[in-house]
Amino acid sequence: MVDEAKMKELRAALEEQRAHLHKEITELGGDPDSLDAEIDVERGFADSAHSTAERARVLSVMKALRANLRWVNRALTKMELGTYGVCERCGQPIAVERLEVLPWAILCIDCKQKGEGR
Ligand SMILES: [Zn+2]
Repeated sequence: MVDEAKMKELRAALEEQRAHLHKEITELGGDPDSLDAEIDVERGFADSAHSTAERARVLSVMKALRANLRWVNRALTKMELGTYGVCERCGQPIAVERLEVLPWAILCIDCKQKGEGR
């Protein structure tokens, strides 16, 4: 399991990542708390001269940022609930080394490799 000191470190990393993602989304004209990236992008580009290609590019970046933000928020929620660092699939602890690299990981490395095949 993750000890308290490490947990603090990981929480700080998650909060930092969340702030970073919020900033990026806002800079792209989005609302980090809204769940619909497409609406954001439509709104942001409604009266601008961006091309369709540019809009599509921003939309895909925005979607990726939001997906990451969802994982980060989920990890923070799990910290609140005391279920952080436990694999959602097999219930085994996730290796601390993995959490250090990916603090928002919700699957252990075994399940991740089995589950997604990439
Ligand atoms: Zn697992």
